Amino acid sequence: MVSKTDYSYFIGAHASRRRPALTRELTKRQYNAPKDTISLAEGMPNEATFPFELINVVLKDGTQFSLQGAELNSALQYIPTQGYPPLDRELLMTNGSQEGLSKSLEMIVEEGDDVLVQDPLYAGADIILKPFKANLIGIEQDQFGIIPKKLIEVLENCKSKYTEEGGGKMPKVIYLNPTGSNPTGGTMSLERRKEIYQICSKYNILILEDDAYCFLHFLEKQPVSFLSLDTDGIVIRFDSMSKIISSGLRLAWLTGPKQLVHRIELHIQSSNLHSSTLSQVLTESLLQHWGFKGLLAHFASVREFYKTRRDFTIASMEKHLKDLCDWEVPTGGMFVWIRVRGVSDVYEMLMTRGLKKQIVFVPGHAFMADPTKACNHIRASFSRTPLKQIDKAMKMLAELIREEQLL
Ligand code: PMP
Repeated sequence: MVSKTDYSYFIGAHASRRRPALTRELTKRQYNAPKDTISLAEGMPNEATFPFELINVVLKDGTQFSLQGAELNSALQYIPTQGYPPLDRELLMTNGSQEGLSKSLEMIVEEGDDVLVQDPLYAGADIILKPFKANLIGIEQDQFGIIPKKLIEVLENCKSKYTEEGGGKMPKVIYLNPTGSNPTGGTMSLERRKEIYQICSKYNILILEDDAYCFLHFLEKQPVSFLSLDTDGIVIRFDSMSKIISSGLRLAWLTGPKQLVHRIELHIQSSNLHSSTLSQVLTESLLQHWGFKGLLAHFASVREFYKTRRDFTIASMEKHLKDLCDWEVPTGGMFVWIRVRGVSDVYEMLMTRGLKKQIVFVPGHAFMADPTKACNHIRASFSRTPLKQIDKAMKMLAELIREEQLL
């Protein structure tokens, strides 16, 4: 088996041909250069020509802060690809975690590769993988995440298939969404995380830990990340500001082994140079303004906000759907994953009759490793819909299911 520290194993042919741009490397150096360095190397526009004088930010808590002078100039300027301020190499700022995910998968996956995914999975990961003609191998989940026994079964099958056929590549990567999973709302237990980590370590599988909902958990304690369990350097973790500060800022970061993070950095160099400086400076100023305690208080209030909505939604489902559907109470995130009894496929019910009645839920097909199979699951969001309307929609869903059962 290839050594875990041989990261070239995880880098596809296309990604391995990327080379750093000298101009970008000089930008990085310039950030750390002594003050009296004279540079005629810059390709940066002169900030004096930018029309912005001051950005004043007023927060909902009644306080405010502003960006001006040198700080505003930095916020409007090009920066090194890794992010602002120039960060440790193992961390890389991205345009939302979607960018980090897509560039990581594009680095690893080659046409026809087997890719392990939790099943169901975030539809945004699926759309990255499809153009590679990747063979998605779905690993079954319960409310505590993917089931270790199923993962081992799949890996052993691959092993015997590829050994017997005398060729083929073992899967190199697994995509997981461990906290408040989209679409199931489940959270992987610590025991599971440890077990899954051990299996991945044994079979030399890189773990992509997409934890977009890690601060939206409804548990007593913050779940332990795969990254913090990572002794072998086999985890790339994706964090995002989208669900806690703003999704429109497109601000996220990935963390992982520097050999791989550096490759992803080269990919970003060639696509968008770096993520929005303004978003990064604005967020940094906000964190400075709040301080660590203020940030934790904000997280707590966001969690409480979603938890109240979850509780309302579950109570409404208990009222209307109790005899028609099954579900697990979400332990994080903003979705509930509903299994409909007595209906083998919910697609037409939702997409034809549901839309006619003007209620919209996502059919589970959108999240399945194999979307062509019949699916009796529905994803319902409790994030933004006014509570009264959530109750109305659940009542209408009950009617829809009853009608469908009679068809
Ligand atoms: N991962 C998951 C599981 C998500 O649900 C989402 C957003 N819906 C993302 C990643 C993308 O988030 P971002 O805004 O950080 O790109």
